[in-house]
Amino acid sequence: MRRIVVVSNRVTELRKAAQAGGVAVAIADLFRERPGLWFGWNGKIVDDNDASEPPGVKIAKSVGGSALATLPLTSDEHRDYYLGYSNSVLWPVFHNRLDLARFDAGFYPRYMRVNERFARALQALLKPDDIIWIHDYHLIPLGAELRRAGVKNPMGFYLHIPVPPSQTFLAVPEHRALARALTAYDLIGLQTQADVANLIQFLEDSVAGRILQDGRISAFDHRLAVESFPVGIDPDSFTRVSTEKPHAQPIAGAQRIIGVDRLDYSKGLPQKFRAFGRFLEKYPEYRRNVVLSQIAPPTRESVEAYTDIRKQLEALSGKINGMFGELDWVPIHYIYRSAPRDRLRDIYRSSRIGFFTPLRDGMNLVCKEYVASQDPDDPGVPILSRFAGAAEQLVDALIVNPYNVEEMADAIKTALVMEKDERIERYTRLMSVIRAHDSAAWSASFLATLEAAAKERSRDVAPLTTSMRASMARLARTPLAPVALKLGKEARKAGGQTRAGN
Ligand code: UDP
Repeated sequence: MRRIVVVSNRVTELRKAAQAGGVAVAIADLFRERPGLWFGWNGKIVDDNDASEPPGVKIAKSVGGSALATLPLTSDEHRDYYLGYSNSVLWPVFHNRLDLARFDAGFYPRYMRVNERFARALQALLKPDDIIWIHDYHLIPLGAELRRAGVKNPMGFYLHIPVPPSQTFLAVPEHRALARALTAYDLIGLQTQADVANLIQFLEDSVAGRILQDGRISAFDHRLAVESFPVGIDPDSFTRVSTEKPHAQPIAGAQRIIGVDRLDYSKGLPQKFRAFGRFLEKYPEYRRNVVLSQIAPPTRESVEAYTDIRKQLEALSGKINGMFGELDWVPIHYIYRSAPRDRLRDIYRSSRIGFFTPLRDGMNLVCKEYVASQDPDDPGVPILSRFAGAAEQLVDALIVNPYNVEEMADAIKTALVMEKDERIERYTRLMSVIRAHDSAAWSASFLATLEAAAKERSRDVAPLTTSMRASMARLARTPLAPVALKLGKEARKAGGQTRAGN
């Protein structure tokens, strides 16, 4: 079997992956199925003065036999590539927040330089038979850099975050360069069908990409496949009932609503808190009987937009607790720390409602984890934002508009009064989707499609290297050479031939 080389911004020990969020969880699940090489940033930042020589790659073996090849970032790189272009331009734009994007801050050149540096370091580790799988928005140009250096291996890119509507993407000043970089891959994998439609539209609008009869996209001299592969979880690690004493008994007599979201403006936390406050106001009979436990580990604290959200939430939870709370009942438990994943399973299971209402989210793995953790004989009810990628699959959750506080308040009531039979029916249907699209199926289908797409590319190349090259050489010997060569080029374009490695 060919070796898988996974590249992502952040590489971490497989057993610590859950703490690093959804992308690391998905990659760790992949390596449990099929060990390989995982390449990327080790999370360390070195002083710029130490970096006259670019910091080198360190290789370590991880649990499960995979090799981790990691390198640090310099503090300038961390500021401009990671906090800057990745998280203050691409992240807000891709989550429909043009108002938060810092287009004029000059982050782009260093974003490119880090991608070039990663490409050089990775190239030295590659074997001809490797399959390369690059993850997420930090590394969009990496594939094109590797191709420029002559790497011919099958190369796929997976975007874990949503693709915005084309008009929004076009607002990025460097959108043409990003589009061109995307076309260097054999396959682009996205979370949802809606993302696929948005990306194809963007490639049409930005670089005149066009859809070919076989469904691939043609742009410049390249053909690539764009398909959706919704990220899944490993359901068995959540269905197992803990043999230990449960960590998370529900509060005496009260039912718990659980929320687990990184502290990010895309997660819709203020709207969620307001909806819970509205629920307590509208349905006073539930006061003292329900609590909202919100786990919200902080991330990217040095990005300004993230400090605002924290302040906003502290004020909101304080206001709601002050307004409705009693000496022996606090309506919102707001926990500003991460919880280990095995602990989350107990917390999910003992919660009557899972409340996941991002304003925009690539997938939302926590909703799938919540469902998988439920007691099949007495399951809880997930409430899910229609703007989470997971809503395309989890249609039996209570789907809500996260901007509509009234609708979310009513959904809490609906979930609380839902009869057991209906809860079991919904749970059964949700679980069959989650099982059919688990993490193993996700990586297997992406990799199989990538290998097929790379084969298509080599077939595209064949006529150019044989008959086309011969006839072009023949034409070149005739007096009409310049015209004929031009015509040959046109014909090649019309036939959509691609040249590998461009
Ligand atoms: N997670 C965790 N502890 C926490 C919060 C989150 O282990 O305190 C894990 C969670 O179980 C899930 C991932 O981090 O697997 C979050 O993925 P999701 O797709 O929901 O959101 P993202 O953080 O990727 O936006």
